[in-house]
Amino acid sequence: MNTETIRQMFDEYVVPTYSRSLALSHGHGSRVWDVEGKSYLDFGGGVAVNSLGHTPECLRRALEEQAAKLIHCSNLYYHEPQGLLARELVELTGPGKVFFCNSGAEANEALFKLARRFGDPDGRYEIITAQRSFHGRTLAGISATGQEKVKTGFGPLMPGFKHIPYNDFHALVGAITPQTVAVMLEGIQGEGGIYPADPEYLVKVRQLAKERNILLLWDGIQCGFFRTGRFMSYQTLLEDFPGGEGFLPDGIAMAKSLGGGFPIGAAWMAKPYADLLQPGSHGTTYGGTPLACAVALAVLHEVREKRLDANIRERGRQLKAGLSALMPSGKIEEVRGCGGMIGAAVAGSHLEAAARLREAGLLVVPAGTNVLRFLLPLNASEAEVEEALELVKNAL
Ligand SMILES: *Cc1c(COP(=O)(O)O)cnc(C)c1O
Repeated sequence: MNTETIRQMFDEYVVPTYSRSLALSHGHGSRVWDVEGKSYLDFGGGVAVNSLGHTPECLRRALEEQAAKLIHCSNLYYHEPQGLLARELVELTGPGKVFFCNSGAEANEALFKLARRFGDPDGRYEIITAQRSFHGRTLAGISATGQEKVKTGFGPLMPGFKHIPYNDFHALVGAITPQTVAVMLEGIQGEGGIYPADPEYLVKVRQLAKERNILLLWDGIQCGFFRTGRFMSYQTLLEDFPGGEGFLPDGIAMAKSLGGGFPIGAAWMAKPYADLLQPGSHGTTYGGTPLACAVALAVLHEVREKRLDANIRERGRQLKAGLSALMPSGKIEEVRGCGGMIGAAVAGSHLEAAARLREAGLLVVPAGTNVLRFLLPLNASEAEVEEALELVKNAL
């Protein structure tokens, strides 16, 4: 089928919640092809999901091997892949336990429920999040999200969420009430436009949360999974920052790159809180299926074996330097982020800029009000980043 025929099916039969462009047919590594056979360098990465690029060998092998053994069994039973994945995630994060689900919004939902359960004995339920944040599209997710555009027309929203300016410690202190039970932050705001947290802010928030007995919840869905060069972005942001050693949130939401393209989400909960959700208190049918967990394990092993954490740190530096070099032209106003999560604020419409890049053969994702997001795969090569920079230079 050609693009036009496929588009007509969508127009007629698919709920139009997205503005779509290309009709894609297949992909390999950092490249995808549309149904007309034109190829694109994919630095949108399925919005921070395709951490190993398209159709990676290790992921296909894990899918095939696990599919021949056990694809799904309910959470009424134990199975090895979920246990192994939980152990890996705890070893990578810190003492605690993991709840498995299927998406980012559900991972956040598990943390919201954890916070409510935690605060229930003393009537605390309020969760503070940041302006410009993004926490998912469920009702709790849009209530938590600090952007009006996701809420419009869906009221009444879930009570108990309030938003404060990001990176403003005094605003947080002022927002805490006797009902406050948690604060949730992204390490690098993704949908909001690639805004990293200040190291000093993070250290102060951690300290304050401890003092006031409120949970520090971390939305690591987009910035996690080695995207910034370390497992979680706070490790990158706080590297060599005095007082940043040992920084650990009380709960972390994971999804996106965790499955490298296969749907899986997870909520890590720190040890003191890891047993608050007991049998019957929370669950989801598909959470942590053998297939999903086997794939996530394969992704983690590939990152470790191929040292992709080191690679993406280098690629991020290369991309950032290249984009920054275009700033004197006036087309790019600012470059933020690191590793496989770089934002370039552009002059003029970022949507038009993204469309021009697409025409030229480079896929990126618009974010915020004026930002082009580069969410490249962790295994992108030096030559591919050079190619992307060349395309940006010519297209803008
Ligand atoms: C994508 C995203 C979510 C929502 O994840 P879904 O899998 O789409 O539900 C939540 N928080 C952040 C920071 C995200 O980037």
